[in-house]
Amino acid sequence: MSKLNPFEMAQRQFDEVADQLELDAGVRAVLRRPLREFHFRIPVRMDDGGLRVFDGYRVQHNDARGPCKGGIRWAANETIDTVRALATWMTWKCAVADIPLGGGKGGIVVDPATLSIHEKERLCRGWVDQMWKNIGPRTDVPAPDIGTTPQMMGWMMDQYSKLRGEYTPGVITGKPLGGGGSLGRTEATGFGVIYAAREAFKHLEIDPKGTKASIHGFGNVAQYAAIGFIEMLGGVVVCVACWDRHDKTAYTFSKADGIDPRFLMSITDQYGTIDKGKAKQAGYSIEDADAWIGMEVDILMPCAIEGVLTAETIGMIKPSVKIIAEGANGPTTPEADAEIKKRGIFLIPDFLCNAGGVTCSYFESVQNDMNFYWSRDEVLGKLDEKIAIAFAGVLAMAQKKDVYMRNAAYMIAIDRVATAMKLRGWV
Ligand code: GLU
Repeated sequence: MSKLNPFEMAQRQFDEVADQLELDAGVRAVLRRPLREFHFRIPVRMDDGGLRVFDGYRVQHNDARGPCKGGIRWAANETIDTVRALATWMTWKCAVADIPLGGGKGGIVVDPATLSIHEKERLCRGWVDQMWKNIGPRTDVPAPDIGTTPQMMGWMMDQYSKLRGEYTPGVITGKPLGGGGSLGRTEATGFGVIYAAREAFKHLEIDPKGTKASIHGFGNVAQYAAIGFIEMLGGVVVCVACWDRHDKTAYTFSKADGIDPRFLMSITDQYGTIDKGKAKQAGYSIEDADAWIGMEVDILMPCAIEGVLTAETIGMIKPSVKIIAEGANGPTTPEADAEIKKRGIFLIPDFLCNAGGVTCSYFESVQNDMNFYWSRDEVLGKLDEKIAIAFAGVLAMAQKKDVYMRNAAYMIAIDRVATAMKLRGWV
């Protein structure tokens, strides 16, 4: 895996487009770095009576277009620069999806699999104890990301509501159903990837029926991308690849006639580790971590973590690959990106491709504000429309300026955020 720091990567992507746009130096200086950062310590009483102190973060990159928005990630290797990068990408994501929100991200340095359910609850409440004065429906609205779940959002909402003294569901999204959550939120990011992929196939004049996909990941995004690719587009998913927390390594689970995501979900634990024994019994081949990149498929969907398509792995991509749909945030390093561009593979950049999650989060907060809830079909219908419009806008910009899809997405996003800053008199 590339050693590139994700925040440097986000800044390099931004700088390239800022140069192309000849962006005003003041605007550039504001957007290159987050507006605000919170670093704090969270003491938690453990089940054995001992005390552990966790490092927590929240980065608010930009809120010119509306309250900061973005998930909270729990990971053992979490760093402030990862959170900064993810917060920055959230600003571009909300802008390209044209939802009235800014960008933020949070994190805790912890492997959630090492905590009991009660310890998790105390850590969630502890994060809110540190941050509650600086988050809120009109300031900054967190959500889930890798390592966090709807139940955790429910606890955090409860803690915030207790501290404020009033029920405030709009402080956080990705809440469980029946606890202020929205129908469709679980599927939203993965389905959004598929709505965007459908538009890409349409643009390339390829019938997706019977096409093959290879997916990296098997968490919330990858699972619903796999289901959507099979059930909505009529395609075949030949493999998924995921981390095994027991072996501390990743594997690719493949099946030539197509994997069954619902079966695999039934043998996956809550932290995303697939039971290898049961998978083998069901006829799956288990290959090494990077095997998913070299599959003979039409579309690659990296739907897990940053930095997987790198200078070292990019050469594995087969000539059959026509589309890369980035369900993950930051899966492609700048070196790999240059190669994708050179090879003419159609790229759906991360902050367009995976905008379904935050767009549905926006719908969730709208429903919380109205105190009136939509049906699943209504939510997913609105989501599909939003993603299709965002995709069309980026494609039109790419064609008009004759630029790579990622740069086109940046052009739209930067312009929208810069316009909001100008209108508010910030720059
Ligand atoms: N964590 C998700 C993302 O990276 C969702 C953020 C949200 O819903 O606010 O887009």
